[in-house]
Amino acid sequence: MSADKRFGGIEAGGTKFVCAVGTASGQILDEVQFPTTDPATTLGRAIDFFRRQLVPIVSVGIGSFGPVDLNPSSPTYGQITTAPKPGWQDVDIAGQVRAELGVPARLDTDVNAAAFGEFRWGAAHGLDTFLYLTVGTGIGGGAMVEGRMLHGLVHPEMGHMRVPHDWAQDPFPGVCPHHGDCLEGLATGPAIERRWGRRGSDLPADHPAWPLEAHYLALGLANLVAVLSPQRIILGGGVMHQGQLFPAIRREVQALLAGYVRTPAILERIDEYIVPPGLGDRAGVLGAIALAL
Ligand code: ZN
Repeated sequence: MSADKRFGGIEAGGTKFVCAVGTASGQILDEVQFPTTDPATTLGRAIDFFRRQLVPIVSVGIGSFGPVDLNPSSPTYGQITTAPKPGWQDVDIAGQVRAELGVPARLDTDVNAAAFGEFRWGAAHGLDTFLYLTVGTGIGGGAMVEGRMLHGLVHPEMGHMRVPHDWAQDPFPGVCPHHGDCLEGLATGPAIERRWGRRGSDLPADHPAWPLEAHYLALGLANLVAVLSPQRIILGGGVMHQGQLFPAIRREVQALLAGYVRTPAILERIDEYIVPPGLGDRAGVLGAIALAL
């Protein structure tokens, strides 16, 4: 792969789009961000950005909010399907980019893209089975299993797993419009804000919000360890900027697994097992570029 080739990446989020041009080694050369409005305006801005490049890009990777259709034999392959964001249902995001720019475009979920970026250049380098969970305005997980990004029937929806909810300890009903108190409903950023009446970023580090948050996330992670047997777990997203969550989550995952998953990674080296993204907040856009390679 020639070092002077240029690749496009689109981190298509529900609130903002980040578009970047980078090299095969993950060096970002140009980047733009803008709010996500209607599909025509938003995709138009993304396409304009890539058209303006002096060195043409050879392909585009897209990590998109969803749900998205990733089944190559489906007639709606590459489309955002039942997205809750108004106007974005059934939008063929990869098809439009492909048609307008005349280059291949590869779509995956935003979290699978971030996971792939971490695999290529970050905290999952050298692993073949790991997961990336983002905890922010929603909770979503992407996973690689034995060297392949996990899609399966549609794609994983790790944020919507059900976790035990002690109504006596936490009477908050949850914010998920579909399930109420699924993991996302109980532990996403908006759940913290609604439960405590203040944004998480405004709560002190010793606020009772954080042990409760660590508890729910640890329940989710213990389930994921039991199901996927990941070699590492990467936790990103705005809520995870609360660094005090990491030690609390690690302790509670160990307690929940109760010594049953007997491996030094969990019993002795959990600080290297549950980690922040190696690429920080760049995981999403770099992951999109990694998809383009
Ligand atoms: Zn849910």
